[in-house]
Amino acid sequence: MFGVIGCINCNRKRVVDLSTKKSTCPYCGTHSTVADHQVYFKSTDAASARAALTQLTGSAEISEKKKPSPDTDPYSTLEYEYEHCHGLEEKMEVLSKGLTRVYGEFTYEELEKLEPKNAEKILKAMLVQGYVHETKYGRYTAN
Ligand SMILES: [Zn+2]
Repeated sequence: MFGVIGCINCNRKRVVDLSTKKSTCPYCGTHSTVADHQVYFKSTDAASARAALTQLTGSAEISEKKKPSPDTDPYSTLEYEYEHCHGLEEKMEVLSKGLTRVYGEFTYEELEKLEPKNAEKILKAMLVQGYVHETKYGRYTAN
């Protein structure tokens, strides 16, 4: 089950997997217990929770467009898809799913290889919007 929660410290909203016990705010770094938060929205799928987050925070709508890709190995496919992305939402979708497909769990360094300039910003945004979650310290996987 996914939910939209507000940080107990800075109050900014993000999507989390409600079955996890602990969560770290990507904005202020506050470590907290998921059950302690007010849940603004609940859904069985992450996409609905993201849509609710978008409505609650008033940011742009998330596009779910698919791009054709050449039939090559998973990493080249990911590189190709990423090069052809437009907009942050599409990038996050491709990165979270693609890196998880290639690595299972991925690190900041692996993200940085594809996105050297904005890796930190994109990782933060993916955490906030529930595209990925941290499985253990420094390791991420798609929701
Ligand atoms: Zn916070």
